[in-house]
Amino acid sequence: MRLENKVAIVTGAGRGLGKGIAKKLAENGAKVIVADMAPADDAVAEIQAAGGTACAFTVDVAKQDEVQALVQFAIETYGTLDIMVNNAGINRDGMLHKMTAENWDLVLSIDLTGTFYGTQEAIKYMRSQNSGRIINISSGSWLGNIGQANYAAAKAGVIGLTKTAARENARKGITCNAICPGFIETDMTLRLKEVNDGAAWDSMMQRIPMNYAGKPEDVGNMVAFLASDEAAYITSEVINVGGGMIV
Ligand code: NAP
Repeated sequence: MRLENKVAIVTGAGRGLGKGIAKKLAENGAKVIVADMAPADDAVAEIQAAGGTACAFTVDVAKQDEVQALVQFAIETYGTLDIMVNNAGINRDGMLHKMTAENWDLVLSIDLTGTFYGTQEAIKYMRSQNSGRIINISSGSWLGNIGQANYAAAKAGVIGLTKTAARENARKGITCNAICPGFIETDMTLRLKEVNDGAAWDSMMQRIPMNYAGKPEDVGNMVAFLASDEAAYITSEVINVGGGMIV
């Protein structure tokens, strides 16, 4: 229970990686705001059934006023905000020469600008407390990936944002780190099983030295550690959770 009495927000936590992160934080004793586009009642029920404390909040992270309301809600509901996990993200893949401006803007607005709003709003409050943990979910794709110009640009932006936030706020007791998941089993990736009768999924497994996809809990474990007091001296880092896939 290393996060007992801590209050956390996880965005995009209704399903997938975000849900796995929210569950791990709650398992470790944190009170969790499960934030998503639609009410995340199922995720909240799962956490409560396991003995954890959680409630849902509806937010579109691409809208600044909604993210401001989310942080306010955490403070009003549980009295403070200790941990902000900016996880909400989408992809709209396509080769650069065919990519529409709409798909560029959409991915940037959620994956990068949404992370900016969440980071900024949390930091404003955490500076007044002289403590806090920001954990931003980037991706191994930040290094560049065929068909993902918009996503790679957004996820690389998340790393620049994270490192800057870390340096600006280190003396205020706030750490800010990025996690790059490799290939984790969620709706975002399971779509590959439908491509070429599963051949696309199999070929992805061959790119992972451990030869299998990660689980949301694998990323959740790293988030729980970075959120804990034991990680107080770790900031401005980019940490891969990818079974050896990201080099
Ligand atoms: P996912 O299964 O597609 O889930 C994404 C979640 O984010 C959904 O609950 C979705 O809500 C929510 N969301 C989407 N747009 C939002 C918005 N504007 N405001 C608030 N919530 C929003 O994806 P995932 O695989 O869990 O990915 C989570 C994060 O990990 C993303 O940032 C992704 O880029 C990153 N990541 C994933 C992998 C992987 O292998 N899965 C690898 C690297 C990085 P709805 O249900 O309403 O759509």
